[in-house]
Amino acid sequence: MEETTSRSSSKVVAVVGGGLVGALNACFFAKRGFQVELFEAREDIRRARHMKGRSINLALSHRGRQALQHVGMEEKIVSQGIPMNARMIHSPSGKLSSIPYGKKGQFILSVDRANLNRELLTEAETYPNMQLNFDHKLQDWSAETGLMTFARSDGSVQEIQADLIVGCDGAFSAIRKQFLRRSRFNYSQTYIPHGYMELTMPPVHGEFAMEPNYLHIWPRNTFMMIALPNLDKTFTCTLFMPFEEFEKITTGEEVMEFFHRYFPDTIPLIGADALKRDYFRLPAQAMVSVKCSPYHIGDKCVLMGDAAHAVVPFYGQGMNAGFEDCVVFDEMMEQFKEDLSVVLPEYTRVRVPDDHAIADLAMYNYVEMRAHVNSRWFLFRKLLDNF
Ligand code: FAD
Repeated sequence: MEETTSRSSSKVVAVVGGGLVGALNACFFAKRGFQVELFEAREDIRRARHMKGRSINLALSHRGRQALQHVGMEEKIVSQGIPMNARMIHSPSGKLSSIPYGKKGQFILSVDRANLNRELLTEAETYPNMQLNFDHKLQDWSAETGLMTFARSDGSVQEIQADLIVGCDGAFSAIRKQFLRRSRFNYSQTYIPHGYMELTMPPVHGEFAMEPNYLHIWPRNTFMMIALPNLDKTFTCTLFMPFEEFEKITTGEEVMEFFHRYFPDTIPLIGADALKRDYFRLPAQAMVSVKCSPYHIGDKCVLMGDAAHAVVPFYGQGMNAGFEDCVVFDEMMEQFKEDLSVVLPEYTRVRVPDDHAIADLAMYNYVEMRAHVNSRWFLFRKLLDNF
């Protein structure tokens, strides 16, 4: 645990959402000495047997690492990640070519989403001024009074008041719903025609089936697959493809035909039986881009992470940008002596253009990829920009 300051010990900050950004943000507020209450709709993932949700692993970049460093978590998380020094491009004929991420020694990290979330919650819990509340699903709240209503799984309802409400409840934020009712709140939401599906590539004789220190990419015109390594020596492969293409494949034979045609080198590595089974295990998941402004209401509430800016994952920056939100807010808290009536509008002023730029870049790459489906070289270059 990092040293705490006592400036704000009497004020209550409610962080709604205990995902990646909420759990990290709770540490930032606790470190400042606020009385922090974190509310998460799900049960405690550290005790949960099944994890529902999004990508199994993700790429942690410099931005995200900087944020972890602020709460003393960088070293620990980096030690649990797998460095990816370069992309490894798999051509349709199985030819491999690698392209480094930067200078020698520079890399991004493949980290396990659930493990990162667990570590951040455990870190948050080490602060004496922190209360973690699981199984608390925000139903409604008042911007005037700061009163929040939470539903519990036993059917009961709890009402709680806070001085500051921090909405970190993801792309479909319940906190943001109150913003939508207000005048001069800008909001846009776009689903892209592509979905994604995750498949597991198991170890071979106890070792990684492919070179581990790479982000593997199979670019294939309108669709592509990527694979990131995990600590258990598996790879998580993510197939991005238009929903209509996913829906065309309805039998195990069709799955095999498709993989023979586009990703033949992965068949022996994933395994034919596993492919035929896992393709139908879960439907392809949707991807949404959300932009809004402002990020705050008065001195009462502020949005961060995907609640403020869900981005399509073609830049690998959603979580990293959310982590950076926490740093930027914290720096403003320092600069403006925790005067929330100044910090919140300033945060909107500074952060909205940057977050919108990341959302635009991610969407731009996605659109460009689709628009230039017939230019292999162009597509290849775009993919390299993306990952
Ligand atoms: P979430 O992770 O969505 O967490 C929100 C939390 O709020 C959840 O725990 C949820 O249960 C809780 N919640 C929701 N509603 C309520 C409620 N009413 N009351 C209480 N709690 C509630 N980003 C990267 O930086 N790098 C990558 O490589 C990367 N890869 C990705 C790959 C895919 C396929 C996808 C889909 C996304 C990827 N991202 C990546 C983006 C990243 O997943 C998100 O940006 C990140 O999860 C945002 O974190 P968050 O805490 O804001 O939201």
